[in-house]
Amino acid sequence: MKITVFGIGYVGLVQAAVLSEVGHDVFCVDIDSDKIENLKKGIIPIYEPGLSELVNNNYANGRLIFTTNPQEGVQHGDIIFIAVGTPPDEDGSADLQYVLSVAKTIAQHMNNEKIIINKSTVPVGTADKVNNTIHDILSKNKKLKDITYHVVSNPEFLKEGSAVKDCMRPSRIIVGTESEYVKQKMRELYEPFNRNHDKMIFMDIRSAELTKYAANCMLATKISFMNELANLAELLGADIENVRHGIGSDERIGYHFIYPGCGYGGSCFPKDVQALIKTASQVGYEANLLQSVEKVNIKQKQKLPQLLNQHFNSNIKDKIFAIWGLSFKPNTDDMRDAPSRVLIEFILKNGGTIQAYDPEAMTEAKRIYSSKENLIFADSKEKALEEADALVICTEWQTFKAPDFEAIKQKLKSPVIFDGRNLFNPQKLKEMGYIYYAIGRGDSVINI
Ligand code: NAD
Repeated sequence: MKITVFGIGYVGLVQAAVLSEVGHDVFCVDIDSDKIENLKKGIIPIYEPGLSELVNNNYANGRLIFTTNPQEGVQHGDIIFIAVGTPPDEDGSADLQYVLSVAKTIAQHMNNEKIIINKSTVPVGTADKVNNTIHDILSKNKKLKDITYHVVSNPEFLKEGSAVKDCMRPSRIIVGTESEYVKQKMRELYEPFNRNHDKMIFMDIRSAELTKYAANCMLATKISFMNELANLAELLGADIENVRHGIGSDERIGYHFIYPGCGYGGSCFPKDVQALIKTASQVGYEANLLQSVEKVNIKQKQKLPQLLNQHFNSNIKDKIFAIWGLSFKPNTDDMRDAPSRVLIEFILKNGGTIQAYDPEAMTEAKRIYSSKENLIFADSKEKALEEADALVICTEWQTFKAPDFEAIKQKLKSPVIFDGRNLFNPQKLKEMGYIYYAIGRGDSVINI
């Protein structure tokens, strides 16, 4: 099928690559000309396992085309994806300017029947706005009678870090449409990903739009719930890791997404929770639970700074901190809303120095913090430790999970670890002479 994807970010690029891999002809349109030029040279703008090979192979065989020319893009695709960003506006609502700008572009250049798929995460009612935008332009250009178009909601559920796998083997394909014709086309589009069993779930457009927010808000709720429990466990002298095992074994609860930590981040959970709170308030409903989920998370991102203050008697001036992990989660270079950023800002504001290391997010960190004094980018996790007063862990990358604790001790000025992801055994570290702070592991299990 002839497909065009507008917005070549985490979602758009992966979707385009995967669709081209199964044989579709895909045009990728982005307004970022550097990104497009780099992609043509084989330089992939993001880190995502398996993506580079897919993109480069399909670019080489001609099934994946990169362009900044929107007209070319619109005229190529019978199916057009909108996969641009929907960042939070000042008031927390989703900013739809990029989505609606693509809708205008499509309307200006469309010359035959189009299925317009909204893949961006958008508030309920956005499909109507896209529809109206296109309708008004076609009407103004006197093309309304000649061109048919369909607006579909098809939210994306990929996880950064396993995005290629998730798109190749989706757990579900949600499609919001009332049209039987569109349903059949969507089945055709996703047929290669739908062979094992039927993963397509058709529903009305508004329900599809809300399903995406419901999924992310549920996951964020699980995390904030566990973080609240972790804080309580700490005060009660209990170990949240034991509690986690204890509740995860109940199949109604399960083990997924109940890890306590230093807060959730990324480009989705924080903004999507905020956006649904805003949507609720716009229809006169106060989303108390979601407001709490957000509040708990904002507080949790202060957890590591608080532990640092506690240990160093509120004076971290001239102290050096090794930070392991900058991305908001492992297997991605995405630092949007990452807990590490709250920590970095706290340390720098209070006169401390940082030696930071991340397996994949160093380029992104340099882009964000290029001009910051006292923030040193280390070439390796070992280099980050040299002469540091403490090690702080923000992201649970595999490579941090079983380090050589003797070697760490040799490199640090003092054996202190602040672990925002509960990676280590407190008893073992205590026996090795470490002072080990974790999340929700109580005075009885940490050596304060
Ligand atoms: P991103 O910021 O990585 O990419 C967005 C891209 O859109 C950028 O390259 C930008 O230059 C481009 N763009 C902006 N305006 C454009 C225009 N008029 N024409 C063409 N390109 C344009 O964003 P992302 O993380 O891929 O997210 C995209 C959407 O998907 C968001 O709504 C997000 O909430 C949702 N989503 C993201 C994820 C994720 O894990 N990142 C998962 C599911 C859903």
